[in-house]
Amino acid sequence: MKYQRPKGTADILPGQSYKWEYIENTARKLFSKYRYHEIRTPMFENFNVFSRTSGDTSDIVTKEMYDFNDKGGRHVTLRPEGTAGVVRAFVQNKLYGPDTYKPYKVFYMGPMFRYERPQSGREREFHQIGVEAFGSDLPELDVEVIAMALDLLKQFGIKHVRLALNTLGDEETRDAYRKALIDYLKPHYDELSDDSKERLYKNPLRVLDSKDPKDKQFVADAPSILDYLTDNAKQHFDKVTSLLDALNIDYDIDPSVVRGLDYYNHTIFEIMVKSKSLGKGYTTICAGGRYNELVKQLGGPDMSGVGFGLGVERLLLFMEGENIPFPNLHPLDAYVVGIGDDTDTETFKVVQALRDAGFSADRDYLDKKPRGQFKAANRLNAEYTLTIGGKELASHKINVKSMASGEEVSVPLKDVKDNFNEVIEDSFN
Ligand code: ATP
Ligand code: MG
Repeated sequence: MKYQRPKGTADILPGQSYKWEYIENTARKLFSKYRYHEIRTPMFENFNVFSRTSGDTSDIVTKEMYDFNDKGGRHVTLRPEGTAGVVRAFVQNKLYGPDTYKPYKVFYMGPMFRYERPQSGREREFHQIGVEAFGSDLPELDVEVIAMALDLLKQFGIKHVRLALNTLGDEETRDAYRKALIDYLKPHYDELSDDSKERLYKNPLRVLDSKDPKDKQFVADAPSILDYLTDNAKQHFDKVTSLLDALNIDYDIDPSVVRGLDYYNHTIFEIMVKSKSLGKGYTTICAGGRYNELVKQLGGPDMSGVGFGLGVERLLLFMEGENIPFPNLHPLDAYVVGIGDDTDTETFKVVQALRDAGFSADRDYLDKKPRGQFKAANRLNAEYTLTIGGKELASHKINVKSMASGEEVSVPLKDVKDNFNEVIEDSFN
């Protein structure tokens, strides 16, 4: 075939897009309950928005960026993730100022781009639904964000998830832990992957996040960051866990969770699920945490944030793999069948009248014989099939059949056009 979509991208066709619509609608409804409002930021940003924030040893920055120089010589990149762009917008629009209510809570949904090796659940263009909340240091906000992520998955009918929780503490915690980790990994330097060798001194936490089996063997016995928490960091984390307990939210404290981006501190979390459709073991579909330096790093004041990102493709793979049903958002209320050429105009008028009244309605556009039209009504799963023949036309009537019960009534055309609701009520209930 001559023209093919780029590797790692997908065409989302109507047979699939209704699922996306359902996921996005459900998320919107939920975010509204938690008082998060939509923010839309550009699909591309200046390269340094991400290179400054994700960390120059992160996979995203070292390998996965879709960056290029535009015709004006500006170094730009398709966004690999949502947070940095939102923070850039937060700072540029001075949303940190006294004119906005705090915490300032936003959500986004849209495509992200990473140059990765495509495989199931790992695309080059993928989609995230995410939230960010700015302007409160309290652990209560971390818990709201975690609870909201879990609530969202529950809305989709997902029952079993694993919430893996960890803390990266504050700067003092991280400095002490970095040293401990370097001391632990140094003797194994030669056994580490090439990437990790490079990262060992620059950013040893990244070694724990590596997917290379060479590195993974050292994760289990690595020192735990929990032993290096300052009083302040411990207090924050203890409050998070006690609030999760109070809300009856299950979690595993997992010191091996360190996240692939540099900007986190204090609470970090991943929500994982298990399904054959995603491969062996647990797969992370949602991840997030607190970032207290990011706003400052992008030129804003000292103001903290917390958020998460949910991978829509992985969510869908999981739901499909577990046979979790998706509602049909676009049922066909009525299919109008015309028998004989002289009914052509009237069927059109009925279809349009039904649409005007708020119903979904359709008719034939292929000059099908009545048999073919009835078949179409079946295939499209119409709830009611309306039929007009010469006899009906002459007596200003129309046949209405409930496809569920098979019951059929003859009613005045005018009633169907003016008040189809009542026709249904009177005839079939
Ligand atoms: P991974 O460890 O799987 O590479 P990550 O740490 O790079 O994930 P994040 O940057 O935390 O992922 O993104 C949050 C979520 O976005 C992931 O949990 C996943 O569901 C989704 N995601 C990330 N990269 C991809 C991708 N290339 N294709 C599809 N979904 C992705
Ligand atoms: Mg990744």
